[in-house]
Amino acid sequence: MSVSSGQTYLAIPGPSVIPEAVLRSMHIASPNIYEGELIEITESLIPDLNYVARSSGHIAIYIANGHGIWEAALSNMVSAGDHVLVLATGRFAHGWAEMARKIGVLVDILDFGKNRAVDVNVLNEKLKSEPKTKYKAILMTHVDTSTSVKNDIASVRKNLDEIKSPALLAVDCIASLACDRFEMDDWGVDIMVAACQKGLMVPPGIGFVFFNNRAKERQKSLTSVSSYWDWEPRVNPRLYYEYFCGTAPTHHIYGLRTALDMIKREEIEKTWKRHEILSRAIWAAIDRWSSEGDISLNVKNPSDRSHAVTSIRLGGKNGTRLRQWLQTKSGLTIGIGLGMSEPEDPHGDGFVRFGHMGHVNTQMVMALLGTVETGLRAIGYKHGNGALEAASEILSTI
Ligand SMILES: *Cc1c(COP(=O)(O)O)cnc(C)c1O
Repeated sequence: MSVSSGQTYLAIPGPSVIPEAVLRSMHIASPNIYEGELIEITESLIPDLNYVARSSGHIAIYIANGHGIWEAALSNMVSAGDHVLVLATGRFAHGWAEMARKIGVLVDILDFGKNRAVDVNVLNEKLKSEPKTKYKAILMTHVDTSTSVKNDIASVRKNLDEIKSPALLAVDCIASLACDRFEMDDWGVDIMVAACQKGLMVPPGIGFVFFNNRAKERQKSLTSVSSYWDWEPRVNPRLYYEYFCGTAPTHHIYGLRTALDMIKREEIEKTWKRHEILSRAIWAAIDRWSSEGDISLNVKNPSDRSHAVTSIRLGGKNGTRLRQWLQTKSGLTIGIGLGMSEPEDPHGDGFVRFGHMGHVNTQMVMALLGTVETGLRAIGYKHGNGALEAASEILSTI
C-alpha cells in the first residue's frame, strides 16, 4: 500500500521547489519582445541580481543550464592552450574542468577529496611551485552539490593576493547563490556563475555570469570569443535581442522578477539566515540518527557544510532503498548519491542528499525529516532516536 497521493515534495538539490507566485507570474500570454514591459523587466533584473550576489559589476544572462554557464564563463576567460587550476571538493569542479578540457584548455586539478574544504596551504604550495603567470584562472565551487562541501572563498582570494597571483578567481555559485552567504565584491571574486533553478527558485533555463572590470579587461586580450558566448553585447546591448543573442527567455524573465521580489522582501541577510537555521535543524536530526547505526553526515566540520544541500552516508545500498521507499510510498523525493562513487561502483547507493535551497521553511524541513525517519523505519535501517525533537529544539528557539 502506498500513501503517496497528495502534494509531492521534491527535496533534491536542484531544481528546487518553485513558489506558486513564480509559477503564476509565468502563466501569461507571450509578451512583445520588441518594446514595452518585457524590456523594462529585463533591465530591472540586473541590479537585483547584484543585490543577491553582493556585487556591483556586470551580469550576462544566458539561455542555458549550469553546464552551459560553465562554458559561457570559460569562453570569456581563457583560450585554447591556456592553463587553469581547478580546486575540487566534489563532482562539480571536475565537471567544470572537463568542460574546460573539451575546449582545449590545459587543466591542472588539486583534488581535496569528497568531504572537506579547499586547504589554502596546499593551494599555496602548488602556486609557488609553478611559474607565477602559468594559470589564467583558478576555478572552484563555492558549494559542491555532490558532497555538500562549502569553500571559504575569501581565504582563497587572500592567498592569491599574498602571493601576487595574477590568475582570475572564478567561482561556481550555482548551488549556493541566495542560500549561503556570498560576497562577490568583498571576497574579491572576478567571475561568478549561477543558474536560476536552485536558490533563485525559477524552473531551469537561464543562467548568469557575473564579472568585474578586471575580468572584463582580461577578456579583451583573448584571441577570439564565440559570438554566442561573448558577454560584451549582453552587458552593453544596443538592441534588446543582444541581451540574449536572440529571442529572450520571455517567461523566465517574469518568473525571475517575482523570485527576486520575494528575496528582496525577505532581505538577503535573512534569506541566508533562514537557510542556516534550517540546515542546523537537519544536521541536528542526522546527528541523532547517527547515535546508532551507520548513518552520518558526509561533511564532519560544520563550517565546511553548505546551507543549501546536505549529503548523507547510509552505507550499503541503503541510500537507494530509502529513496525508493520515499518516492513510491510517501510522495517525497530526495537526491541520489551523485558523484559519491565512480560509475559502476555501488557505493553511490549508500548516499542520499537533501536539497534545502530556495523556497523552504520550517514545516517543509520537519516534514522532510519526519518522512525520512518513517522511511528509515520502513526499510528496517537502524538509527538513533530523538531526531525530530533535536530539529524542533533548534527551530523552536530561533
Ligand atoms: C546544479 C549545479 C551545476 C549544474 O547545473 P545544471 O543546470 O544541472 O547544468 C553546476 N554546479 C553546481 C555547483 C551545481 O549545483
